[in-house]
Amino acid sequence: MKCPFCKSDDTRVVDSREGKDGFSVRRRRECNDCQERFTTYERIHHAEVMVVKKDGRREEFDRNKIIAGIRKACEKRPVSTEVIEDFVSSLEKEFLERGEREISSEDIGKKLIEKLYEIDQVAYVRFASVYRSFKDVNEFLDEVTGLLKEKK
Ligand SMILES: [Zn+2]
Repeated sequence: MKCPFCKSDDTRVVDSREGKDGFSVRRRRECNDCQERFTTYERIHHAEVMVVKKDGRREEFDRNKIIAGIRKACEKRPVSTEVIEDFVSSLEKEFLERGEREISSEDIGKKLIEKLYEIDQVAYVRFASVYRSFKDVNEFLDEVTGLLKEKK
């Protein structure tokens, strides 16, 4: 594994631990050249799990794509990368345990929205507005006011 800082090939594993979900391993590595540390994740490749999109097309379950989407929703919010990673892992685990080979993108979206609601409500509204692609502004506002009502 190359060092992401100086591109040296001379790196070693200093710590290794199993992820909370049991489907991944997190390793801390150190570069012997520049002494910088970085983290790598090893996980099951879910190529066999396909996501069915609204238009019927299928694509591979892409963990990184989901993480990127959530990160965007959580921009400038007090949500750590670790929380996002854990959250996607638990989601992944849930789908794996169901043993289904196909998951609808709608199903994933619903789950994401539910979980995001628990983590950060501002991020939730942002994500929901994009994901559900509201028909108009009023629809979006209904969502926001619904949230405020629940809070009272
Ligand atoms: Zn280095």
